[in-house]
Amino acid sequence: MRYVQTTCPYCGVGCTLNLVVNDGKLVGVEPYRRSPINEGKLCPKGMTCHEFVHSPDRLTKPLIKKDGEFVEASWDEALDLVAKKLRETSDKYGPKSLGFQVSCRTPNEECYIMQKIARVGFLTNNVDNCARICHGPSVAGLSLSFGSGAATNPFEDVLNSNLLLVWGSNAVEAHPLVGRRIAQAKLKGIPIIVIDPRYSPTARLADDWVRFNPSTHIALANSMMYWIIKEGKHDKEFIEKRTKGFDDLKKMVEKYADVENITGVPTEKVREIALKYAEAKNAVIIYCLGITELTTGTDNVRSMGNLAMLTGNIGRPGVGVNPLRGQNNVQGACDMGAYPNVYSGYQKCEDPAARKKMETAWGLKEGSLPDWYGSTLTEQINECGDPIKAMYIFALNPVVSYPDSNHVKRSLEKLDFLVVQDIFWTETCEYADVVLPGASFAEKDGTFTSGERRINRVRKAVDPPGDAKEDWEIFVLLAQKLGLKGFDFKSPQEIWDDMRKVTPSMAGCSYARLEKPESLHWPCPTEEHPGTPILHVDKFSAPDGLGTFFGLEYRPPAEVADAEYPFTLMTGRLIFHYHTRTQTDRARILHYEVPENYVQINTEDAKRLNIVRGEKVKVRSRRGESIAVARVTDEVGPGVLFMAMHFPEGANALTNTALDPLSKMPELKHCAVTVEKIKEGN
Ligand code: SF4
Repeated sequence: MRYVQTTCPYCGVGCTLNLVVNDGKLVGVEPYRRSPINEGKLCPKGMTCHEFVHSPDRLTKPLIKKDGEFVEASWDEALDLVAKKLRETSDKYGPKSLGFQVSCRTPNEECYIMQKIARVGFLTNNVDNCARICHGPSVAGLSLSFGSGAATNPFEDVLNSNLLLVWGSNAVEAHPLVGRRIAQAKLKGIPIIVIDPRYSPTARLADDWVRFNPSTHIALANSMMYWIIKEGKHDKEFIEKRTKGFDDLKKMVEKYADVENITGVPTEKVREIALKYAEAKNAVIIYCLGITELTTGTDNVRSMGNLAMLTGNIGRPGVGVNPLRGQNNVQGACDMGAYPNVYSGYQKCEDPAARKKMETAWGLKEGSLPDWYGSTLTEQINECGDPIKAMYIFALNPVVSYPDSNHVKRSLEKLDFLVVQDIFWTETCEYADVVLPGASFAEKDGTFTSGERRINRVRKAVDPPGDAKEDWEIFVLLAQKLGLKGFDFKSPQEIWDDMRKVTPSMAGCSYARLEKPESLHWPCPTEEHPGTPILHVDKFSAPDGLGTFFGLEYRPPAEVADAEYPFTLMTGRLIFHYHTRTQTDRARILHYEVPENYVQINTEDAKRLNIVRGEKVKVRSRRGESIAVARVTDEVGPGVLFMAMHFPEGANALTNTALDPLSKMPELKHCAVTVEKIKEGN
């Protein structure tokens, strides 16, 4: 028996745990009590994260589609075919004909090497990761407001706060160990305001739960800021010394004194919570996908930035703006440059100096790297067939996790060539020409970067099954087949060091330093630097050192309920599942807790439609339909439904592909649907 200390493969909290290994197999999970992140505690997902690793249905051999059937192939045969097809496509149609889709559940080293293959091998910026469909607006919005698109403070810092404003986050289910911090704050007597249309398990912890109409964040935030300014509770000194754009904001919010007709929140309540937030000595904002997964996602995030700067709640313990990252390595995949407009450490592709630096480091001819903004994840789906002819999907399942599943399926069918690299057969594999078997988190070394910018080590405990390979190794072999220079890595550590050489903000994060339980928060520019748990202490990360206020107008969602589709569908995560359940559904306890898709419907609506708890209902949108078990509850208000995003033929059969103009985030949290009883023959 031995313990291997590693990082949980699920949400962006990044809990440390011990995998228990006996005779080359994982037999359990044990707490790692010295972890400052989770102090030895784990949620149900973390406790069972070993169960899927040895599933008998793991992919163990490369598969090639021949005459419509998948047949087993050798690695040589499969990678020769992948290299040949990608090269032929690029030579014939140019760099915009390829799409590279990187996962947020795989280690940093693999995200970095995949984007490097796209850029060095094919001179394309068509590389993106699935942060696009969860926290793309955080990267865009916080960068515009603060100059850095990352969380400002560590998770444990909520206990230094005097007030928690939790907005659009069900942390208790989606980020349970942050939920634990919120519960600890409650025990300490720290007031908690939760703003959410749903009476979620997190809302139950609140001193003040504010139910508002779905997707009316900007109107509500503007109104709060109106009252803060009107009552003179804004931090004039902070605004004067550290920010710009206040006049624009002030002018804009003057129109938002009363927003009850938009938000459903009475004006006196808005004023009350606004003043509570402004008057707290230190107040922190925690937000999540309720803020981001909308066509107003970037503006919603900037509204959070506006609120924090208006009250001077930035740059010290107990304050800040903290997006909770969904998957384990959402932060890291972006940090590694698996993004269509930046290299690692957010060095901009449009900057000639950054391009020249990368060309020199990567041994490319001067002027060869593209300056154009590559296609985002969902734009790549829209572009399947023209101009994108070939796509490489790494550890993602777009058929279930992207909006409008029918559209995704139709799009993938238009490709000339599709590679899927994963550990299980997914719904997306059906559309592939080659399927490559990779390794799980327990079968490789590397790092994940959590939502608080903390870089945590991932350690190999067991070997991958059959002929499956560690994913970084697959990319090294592919680079060899493509004849690329600069990819002769022998370990994930060598890839990490290659990244550090070109990434000033992480240059000081050596593997040796990451061995310590407390790990390191980037920025950490030198080996002597202690890391940066709190951002924007003396100045913001923007080039002029100032934070920027934005006067933002409220815009309604792209599709609102109407006579034909009278319900608003909201989507979200469950504590028992992760992504599209490829891993969590193979853990027995998690499967039995929530084995099938369900929809929450308000008691009055259910009565009116004669729907009873437990019966199957059909939910339809303009794009598709989904069968779900009805859960009749007052957690959702009248006219609102809630469905989890994890199930095939579930929420994303219904969701809308309309995009946030700035971050290209699809509107996964809001669409118009109808719900009906299933009649015989229906
Ligand atoms: Fe894993 Fe997140 Fe649960 Fe921690 S809170 S054990 S990181 S799923």
